[in-house]
Amino acid sequence: MFIDMHMHESRYSKDSFLMLEEMVEIAKERGLGAICITDHDDMGLKEFAAEYSKKVDFPIFVGIEFFSLQGDIVAFGIEEYPKERVSAQEFIDLVKAQGGICFAVHPFRNNNRGLEENLKTVQGLDGIEVLNGSTLPEANKKAADYAKELGKITVGSSDCHIPEKIGFFATYFPEDVKTLEDMIRVFRSGGCKPAYYWEGEYKIWDMETPIHKPFLIK
Ligand SMILES: [Zn+2]
Repeated sequence: MFIDMHMHESRYSKDSFLMLEEMVEIAKERGLGAICITDHDDMGLKEFAAEYSKKVDFPIFVGIEFFSLQGDIVAFGIEEYPKERVSAQEFIDLVKAQGGICFAVHPFRNNNRGLEENLKTVQGLDGIEVLNGSTLPEANKKAADYAKELGKITVGSSDCHIPEKIGFFATYFPEDVKTLEDMIRVFRSGGCKPAYYWEGEYKIWDMETPIHKPFLIK
């Protein structure tokens, strides 16, 4: 099963042009088994997403993309999050205390919002996003090298803000999941792999071969 783990919806991400309804429709067309909404520093969509997920019978997991003082981190399985910026370590500790999971997103993207070398010093990160749909290939490759060296779970996601980007990258889950609890359990158990959409289907990325597909950098 493939899940896009990092996506932005316009109601709570002001830089997104996407509505949840359209996101689900396109996700289904592409063959994704679930989507994740990770708005900037906000989980306001949670209730609506839960209702809509039920209505259309399609899993939608709401997490958060939190802008810590050292860079962006995506987390799932939390209820509480800081209302202002705190250090990456403080945020990770909060996630862990609530039994959630978290991963660094676009750690080397050229927008000064990645953890960069902090990847090596923070404690408790579960994973690293090694395919981000708004990041140049060399920065994704560098993230993959760090993930390998640090033994982290590897994630692929579109980081979409526009329809064309939905499901551009995704994460392979070795088991089908329907609930957030299941998603977290399978994520933790390992076996997730980064994947890319190419010629009508998802292909798992071996983290070595350059991906020859057009990169739409927003
Ligand atoms: Zn994002």
